[in-house]
Amino acid sequence: MIRWFVRGVTKRRLTTKYPRHPEHAPPAFRGRAVLAGAAASSHAQADCMQACLPNALSRGPRGGLRLDATRCIACGLCVEACNDGSVVIDSGYELAARSRARLISGDQAPEADVFAERLGGAFRRSLHIRHVDTGSDGAIEQEITALLNPYYDMQRLGLFFTASPRHADVLLVTGPVTAPMEQPLRRTYEAMPEPRVVVAAGTDACSGSIWNEPEVRGGVDRVLAVDVYIPGDPPSPIALLHGLLLAAGRVQEVAPPSAPATQVSETAR
Ligand code: SF4
Repeated sequence: MIRWFVRGVTKRRLTTKYPRHPEHAPPAFRGRAVLAGAAASSHAQADCMQACLPNALSRGPRGGLRLDATRCIACGLCVEACNDGSVVIDSGYELAARSRARLISGDQAPEADVFAERLGGAFRRSLHIRHVDTGSDGAIEQEITALLNPYYDMQRLGLFFTASPRHADVLLVTGPVTAPMEQPLRRTYEAMPEPRVVVAAGTDACSGSIWNEPEVRGGVDRVLAVDVYIPGDPPSPIALLHGLLLAAGRVQEVAPPSAPATQVSETAR
């Protein structure tokens, strides 16, 4: 607290300069798991996959590991389980993407940006956001609340929360969609004017994560078409800012570090 006070008095300005300048993650910040591409033996792969409780790791069509970033909670258990450097945790925070497939396979963005064409620059100046919690554990709500503090100060970027869906451009959904929240979510979406954008924030909203009960529908895209996915459990405030600015068409997707193709050699099998 004292440190913040001294910093405020001496530097006068505390607010992050993101997105004009990159935000440096604190030491040991766990942003996401990344495939580092080392050739893993089938045993190491099996250990890796077994350690992953949300089933974010699977075997890809070419025999290498495949990572579904929309299910990953960055727990780091796979790093120890693989023990061959095939998965690493890095501090990347610009994780949002406009397609779930890109977060699973790391595909490149399509050349024609249909999303930007649909919006036609409508949200470049300001964005009004209606947040709906469809069954979250509350962790991501704390990160969303942090967007309003003096450090992240999302209003400086023209981003505002609104209580009414009729004034909203963006539907920000958190949590897996639970059965009692399915209809309220649909009604909120239908009440919004066009053009409207749906943002799924957090692992639960992106994929349904570990929830596999009849009362949980799964990720938001089981109910509504999702325009932007922000993975993370929970995503940091900067990750949320990046996703919201991506929804506004004001920043670009940032591809994760590309891994060399992972192929299990026959001798390793
Ligand atoms: S960090 Fe955790 S959730 Fe992500 S792939 Fe590794 S074990 Fe799975």
